[in-house]
Amino acid sequence: MQVPATFQYEKAASVADALALLARYGPEARVVAGGQSLLPMMKLRMAEPTALVDINGLTQLARISVDGDELSIGAIVRHAELLASPVVGEHLPILRDAERLIADPIVRNRGTVGGSLCQADPSEDLSAAFAALRAVLVVESAGGRRNVAIRQFFTGPYETVVEPGELLVEIRVPIRSHASAYQKVERRVGDWPVAAAGAVLELDRDRDRVREVGIGLTSVGAAGFVAAEAEDVLRGRPASEEQFVEAGRIAAQHCNPVSDQRGPEDYKRHLAGVLVTRALRKATARSRGEEA
Ligand SMILES: Cc1cc2nc3c(=O)[nH]c(=O)nc-3n(C[C@H](O)[C@H](O)[C@H](O)COP(=O)(O)OP(=O)(O)OC[C@H]3O[C@@H](n4cnc5c(N)ncnc54)[C@H](O)[C@@H]3O)c2cc1C
Repeated sequence: MQVPATFQYEKAASVADALALLARYGPEARVVAGGQSLLPMMKLRMAEPTALVDINGLTQLARISVDGDELSIGAIVRHAELLASPVVGEHLPILRDAERLIADPIVRNRGTVGGSLCQADPSEDLSAAFAALRAVLVVESAGGRRNVAIRQFFTGPYETVVEPGELLVEIRVPIRSHASAYQKVERRVGDWPVAAAGAVLELDRDRDRVREVGIGLTSVGAAGFVAAEAEDVLRGRPASEEQFVEAGRIAAQHCNPVSDQRGPEDYKRHLAGVLVTRALRKATARSRGEEA
């Protein structure tokens, strides 16, 4: 039987309370949101926090709302809520695409958006999707709030800029375009990706030239979950099949997959290229009203 080490358990009543509890218990305390990543790690003794600060009661962090030209997603919004949100489906189809493919309904009913990002698993789907969207993450501490661009958020596998005593409270996403999509290859339904790619495109008025582009990649060792070189190749160019294939080729060339139980390095690299091209193609077709 897998049993975690003993720990203190505290249920936070507000963000201020959560921050005070984190300060009281010190750097060995951990926040628990959905517990879908942290609890298995505790059972395996890969994590041994001395105290858990439960943030599930913080209803102010459970909202999805449109705020001007940004979508605001509270840190404890569940995967299932993101998937079901009409406003997300309308404005950010990349998130709906990704959520359809994350785990199973049991995990999606508990796991949170903030937990996914703070876990920073190198195979996390939402990390790639939000990196493509250029989301801004709002991190709160006793000293106030700071905004962190997602491309500066991840510092390595399972590591982020969130310090002990800090809480990710909100994810803000600019609503600029309907041109987005997420594509994933998994070994079986609901599994972590072998490789996955997300694309977000801002096209010109005629929808045939790329003004700005975000390309996220996961499971293939892309720094910060981003295919930056592929973005550079596409910016300002025609939104054409030829350019999308070229962007895929560049993304495959610059990522850094490793061989493991999900597949060999060369297969993952091949997938990265194919999935980038597919995501760009689908996003563009959607924006032209050719595909849902
Ligand atoms: C069987 C299974 C299959 C899965 N498949 C996939 C998949 O296909 N794709 C995928 O992307 N994910 C997958 N996941 C992971 C899932 O998405 C988890 O929900 C997610 O990784 C963690 O979210 P959580 O809310 O459960 O976080 P928790 O486990 O509660 O926390 C994870 C970490 O984040 C920290 N944390 C949580 N919230 C905050 C916060 N607001 N501020 C600061 N720190 C915080 C915790 O202290 C902890 O270190 C899978 C999980 C399982 C169990």
